[in-house]
Amino acid sequence: MSESVQEFDVVIIGAGPGGYVCAIRCAQLGLKTAIVEKGKTLGGTCLNVGCIPSKAILESSEHYAQAQHELADHGVELGKVSLNLSNMMKRKDKIVGDLTQGVAYLMKKNKVETFYGTGSIVSTGVVQVAGETSATLKAKHIVIATGSVPIELPFMKFDGKFIVSSTEALKFEKVPEHLIVVGGGAIGLEMGSVWLRLGAKVTVIEFADKICGPADKQLSNDLMRVLKKQGMEFMLSTKVTGAEIKGKTVTVNFESVSDGTKGSVQGDKVLVSVGRKPFTDGLGLDKMGVKLNERGQIVVGEHYQTSTAGIYAIGDATPGAMLAHKAEEEGVALAETLGGGVGHVNYNTVPSVIYTWPEMASVGASEEELKAKAIEYNSGSFPFTANARAKAIGMTEGRVKILADKKTDQVLGVHIVGPRASDMIAEAVVAMEFGASSEDIARSFHAHPTLAEVMREAALAVDKRVRQM
Ligand SMILES: Cc1cc2nc3c(=O)[nH]c(=O)nc-3n(C[C@H](O)[C@H](O)[C@H](O)COP(=O)(O)OP(=O)(O)OC[C@H]3O[C@@H](n4cnc5c(N)ncnc54)[C@H](O)[C@@H]3O)c2cc1C
Repeated sequence: MSESVQEFDVVIIGAGPGGYVCAIRCAQLGLKTAIVEKGKTLGGTCLNVGCIPSKAILESSEHYAQAQHELADHGVELGKVSLNLSNMMKRKDKIVGDLTQGVAYLMKKNKVETFYGTGSIVSTGVVQVAGETSATLKAKHIVIATGSVPIELPFMKFDGKFIVSSTEALKFEKVPEHLIVVGGGAIGLEMGSVWLRLGAKVTVIEFADKICGPADKQLSNDLMRVLKKQGMEFMLSTKVTGAEIKGKTVTVNFESVSDGTKGSVQGDKVLVSVGRKPFTDGLGLDKMGVKLNERGQIVVGEHYQTSTAGIYAIGDATPGAMLAHKAEEEGVALAETLGGGVGHVNYNTVPSVIYTWPEMASVGASEEELKAKAIEYNSGSFPFTANARAKAIGMTEGRVKILADKKTDQVLGVHIVGPRASDMIAEAVVAMEFGASSEDIARSFHAHPTLAEVMREAALAVDKRVRQM
């Protein structure tokens, strides 16, 4: 254990996408910067137990499913396809390892001092680090980027074996017989897809009358239809009330939201993916007068300033979408403000993606939101079935839907279910960032034959000018 007292312009607590990106930008702007991380590796939830490992096994499991069900159609015959789960997991772990080391390298390259240990704010401008490194850090500015943890249901506590969070569902040692997923949002659907493709029966129980959280209802239903075809089972408007473990079986009890009818379902693993909550334990926020809201999120005002001068907060620990790119953009905006400039994040253009196959991606308002706000809009939509590239790939499920202001034609929302929707949504984000109209998209070149042409056709459809069919 080493002891030291060092002075910095900025000390950031938490090295997830919010924290480490903020640190790099602070350092680039000439601020003497330190980052404190309680985990063994940098990168936070996203790199260690979130975005990256989940996408690695989503990709691998999709290859497995294609080898089993689709390649023969392309004339590629493999014979009997078998699963080597341990190799699949090793590949995932290597990707995570490479990327977390990459972040450590970036810290060094940008001269950000890294302290491994738990950080707490002990007095104005002072962060105490306890753990692998023991240090007292003095800072003009303190940034809290401590992220979030999975929400636990009080009547169904995580035991890490039968009732698990996404962290354990990323590393099951064998394919479950029957995985019950509580919560039909992004994480539940992604992890459900992985294990479904690898051979598990998967049942998703969702409290709401639709999956995909606040996403556009029509497209959420489109995605559910395709996932059902793949074999995923859904119980909507269903409230989970408890679970009992006997031997190797978990019985999950539920009741219908509409009429209270009770029932139960049995499986060998239960993934509880009902959301995440901010993590601020042990930071000393109470003592420092940093206010939290009723959801435990750190309240921030202009430029991510908390209720206490000199302390800022970004990412999952604060209100708003719990997404890596939201945390990153806030990190950059805050760094630019601390560096003497003016940082800005356009919250109207935060894209969200569900990496199932097909993927679902959206940006801006859904039809339900526009209706609720009485905003008049035109809608144009175009299916992937009518797109040449989608046919060549053999992935024709889904559509692009564009919602544009009725008077000005400005794009208000874009929603995609389809192949590579995660990449396609970038065009919609840029269009919205620049205040584009649907006609702007319709008049822009889109190379042929590409999936992106579906975006253009949807834009033409807003003006009822669809050409391809
Ligand atoms: C399974 C899963 C899949 C996901 N997939 C995606 C996706 O595809 N795309 C996407 O955009 N988002 C995804 N997310 C969400 C994404 O991971 C988070 O939104 C993102 O990581 C938030 O970044 P952050 O920097 O705010 O916090 P985090 O990434 O949570 O990082 C916070 C860090 O702070 C550290 N910390 C906490 N307290 C202290 C302390 N007192 N001292 C020192 N260190 C501390 C933690 O150890 C952690 O490393 C996924 C999440 C999960 C769980």
